[in-house]
Amino acid sequence: MSKWVYMFTEGNAGMRNLLGGKGANLAEMTNIGLPVPQGFTITTEACTQYYKDGRKINDEIMDQAMAGVKKMEEINGKKFGDLKNPLLVSVRSGARASMPGMMDTILNLGLNDEVVAAMIAGNPDPKFERFVYDSYRRFIQMFSDVVMEVGKKYFEQLIDKMKDAKGVQYDVDLTAADLKELAEQFKAEYKKQLGEDFPSDPVVQLKLAIEAVFRSWDNPRANVYRRDNDIPYSWGTAVNVMPMVFGNLNDESGTGVAFTRDPATGEKKLMGEFLKNAQGEDVVAGVRTPMPISQMEQEFPEAYGEFTKVCDILENHYHDMHDIEFTVDNKTLYMLQCRNGTRTAQAALKIACALVDEGHKTEAEAVAMIDPRNLDTLLHPQFDAAALKAATPLGKGLGASPGAACGKVVFSADEAEAQAAKGEKVVLVRLETSPEDITGMKAAQGILTVRGGMTSHAAVVARGMGTCCVSGCGDIDMDEENKKFVLGGVTFNEGSEISIDGTTGNIYAGIIPTVDATIAGEFGRVMAWADKYRRLKVRTNADTPTDAKKARELGAEGIGLCRTEHMFFEADRIAAFREMICSDTVEEREVALDKILPYQQGDFEQLFEALEGNPVTIRFLDPPLHEFVPTEDADIKKLAEAKNKSTDEIKRMIDSLHEFNPMMGHRGCRLAVTYPEIAKMQTKAVIRAAINVQKKHSDWAVKPEIMIPLVCEVKELESIKKIVTDTADAEIEAAGIKLDYEVGTMIEIPRACLTADEIAKNADFFCFGTNDLTQMTFGFSRDDAGKFLQAYYESKIFENDPFAKLDQNGVGKLMEMTIKLGKPVNPKLHIGICGEHGGDPSSVEFCHRIGLDYVSCSPFRVPIARLAAAQAAIAEKADKGCNCGDDAKKSFVDDETKAKLEEAAKKAEEIAKELANQSADVAKAGLEGLKAGFDAAVKAYKETRNK
Ligand code: PEP
Ligand code: MG
Repeated sequence: MSKWVYMFTEGNAGMRNLLGGKGANLAEMTNIGLPVPQGFTITTEACTQYYKDGRKINDEIMDQAMAGVKKMEEINGKKFGDLKNPLLVSVRSGARASMPGMMDTILNLGLNDEVVAAMIAGNPDPKFERFVYDSYRRFIQMFSDVVMEVGKKYFEQLIDKMKDAKGVQYDVDLTAADLKELAEQFKAEYKKQLGEDFPSDPVVQLKLAIEAVFRSWDNPRANVYRRDNDIPYSWGTAVNVMPMVFGNLNDESGTGVAFTRDPATGEKKLMGEFLKNAQGEDVVAGVRTPMPISQMEQEFPEAYGEFTKVCDILENHYHDMHDIEFTVDNKTLYMLQCRNGTRTAQAALKIACALVDEGHKTEAEAVAMIDPRNLDTLLHPQFDAAALKAATPLGKGLGASPGAACGKVVFSADEAEAQAAKGEKVVLVRLETSPEDITGMKAAQGILTVRGGMTSHAAVVARGMGTCCVSGCGDIDMDEENKKFVLGGVTFNEGSEISIDGTTGNIYAGIIPTVDATIAGEFGRVMAWADKYRRLKVRTNADTPTDAKKARELGAEGIGLCRTEHMFFEADRIAAFREMICSDTVEEREVALDKILPYQQGDFEQLFEALEGNPVTIRFLDPPLHEFVPTEDADIKKLAEAKNKSTDEIKRMIDSLHEFNPMMGHRGCRLAVTYPEIAKMQTKAVIRAAINVQKKHSDWAVKPEIMIPLVCEVKELESIKKIVTDTADAEIEAAGIKLDYEVGTMIEIPRACLTADEIAKNADFFCFGTNDLTQMTFGFSRDDAGKFLQAYYESKIFENDPFAKLDQNGVGKLMEMTIKLGKPVNPKLHIGICGEHGGDPSSVEFCHRIGLDYVSCSPFRVPIARLAAAQAAIAEKADKGCNCGDDAKKSFVDDETKAKLEEAAKKAEEIAKELANQSADVAKAGLEGLKAGFDAAVKAYKETRNK
């Protein structure tokens, strides 16, 4: 029988994969003596089993859950469904990786009419009666929404109606009788919507709630979040069942969310919010604006004192900043959750450095704890300082997620998506956001909310996405229905321009120009640590000196791909290029190429200058020629005049370039095969540029790397390489200078992978063009796949876009094969990647693992690749049980464990010898026993290692 349920006393922080982050941390907090209401966790494996069983909770899982309830009853001295001392529970999701707000939670479960009546009868305090009805109406509302999927709007409308009828503004102003009446109305609404009575049996309620949490793993917003955050669908979520403690019991109660350090800046100070007489959902939903945590000190001095102690304990125990949910139930503090707090990139760097300085972490550990994707936000634009100084804010909210955003106002997530699809920059303005808004929030440049604090949904999600967000601007007079709001006397309609500052919380009318971010301080420190650990080199894909300079600033160690065709698109060059395309003879083409040569040479000189002697890989012309030909009549006429041809002749030539399948057509090295003079001109341009720069900088070793695209057959490479070397050697000889250069090829066609041993003999280097390699391996057009990939995600055929995240199973295998075939025949062969995947962290990790020499990515992704490469190296060393650099303190298998493992291995050997003398049946049984023992040992080892 599998074990599906663990009491909090049975788990620990190392069991995150099995118990989910929340379950593992509740167990860990229990182990270190923190005040956690004692419950149990249903494992992530049970969730996977639920899906395997056709979305059903099997009897074994449910029996173990009910046994968990029984133990919980014993520990807490209360009984589920009991009329004397009823136990109410919360049911909460909790995956391995934190997915804030993506899955479901149900509070106050176990209430029904009888339990409510019995509770009230047992306590004559009228405030208690109010609390019970408040909890009951919340439960019906949440259960209906989350478990039965009846829209919450029906219940909100009833609350609003009741508040109007009673002339009050907030829920807390409703009386016990009002809430009792609301509970009745809610049950009636439930029956109206679903045609059946609200379930009164707590066991039925529990089973449905557990099912709802499992089901929520597959809800659309969770699926989007997982895809964005590289979380596999196969992981599943755990379910945590805990006794309720009540922040809405009375004015001596409340609920809060806090961070042990500032999640926006990383500053070492307790940050958070507390809401009196409320349950957790009220804080996160932003329904009421909470008080800052410091104010809690005045109103709840004892609980606050205890809480700050708990925060210190948690930081010292986990050696990281923590995000904590807690409740004060009649002055007593309870911990409901702790996890590594989501933080901005800026905060992540500051905290990592501080943790090293405070002795909590080694440098390697600090590097390993930063999410490389997060760095993106640091590199995003900020407001131009002068323009910002000249602007006057109309109002101010909370700076919930840093960065600057400007665009047109939209009032709904759908509108944000629609406008963004048209290329408009938009700022989503809402009373508050909810998880359904996730795709609209992603599409927006920034998010502005009227309600909610730093821990509201909008704030947490925006920080995770790296999107600028200003939350809780209560001065906004919002009229969502008529799509307008007033702030500081200015009326904003849909389409009005607005700018928001996610650092200061300031809001401005109009567009304030933005400038690129500058990186300094902790960023440099962490990057220097990363560079110490990584083995992979990081180059950049850059076609212009400006891009190359930016990439150098961000740490690029060379250019891995210069797409030369990008240089031809510029207005002054396109004419000469078109003349080259529309030539009838080699001589005619050479005349046009002679016009282009000086432009190319000049560009290359600037690139070599920008790279200061570091490697520069220049790829020869790649795209189909028809991409360059004119389409406008005036341009066709101009070209005809230049070529001394009729417009009809030019039009005929243009038509002849048409291809049914251009991405598999006359492009790449095929152009050099048909028009060798193009390769000749490009070689001259590269070599002459290199000679000039080398002459100017004798201390640099300028060594161009000429890269031939789209090779699928070694003879293609041989023939083009001959043109290149003949031309280059003649240029070098004529210049009377010593200059090394290399000729290599892109590997972007499966046949090139399959014949890599032949190609490697003729290449100085390989560079994987995984954009084309993915296209050709899948047979998906890289330009059109987006149209149907959404259906693939929805059908769970794909979890990710293979053009963004390398398909390690297919494309990756071809890459491994290429290396295995290529390296033995040419040990000097150096190998990199320059497809988009070169800047994707999980793909970078793969590139490290298969032994590439470098990755090359767009300039702004260079720091991401540096960090990901370091993390790959650190993780590899950790997996091998080695120390990570000089600063690592401990090996992953301690001496005691090692001794135990050796002893177990010796015993297993003895048993195996013994079994050899036994009958087949006995031997089989013995072997099964051994296997079970081995599995248990491996599991225990993994858990220790995770810890
Ligand atoms: C590639 O195919 O991966 C590549 C880098 O080349 P391009 O994107 O220019 O085709
Ligand atoms: Mg390509």
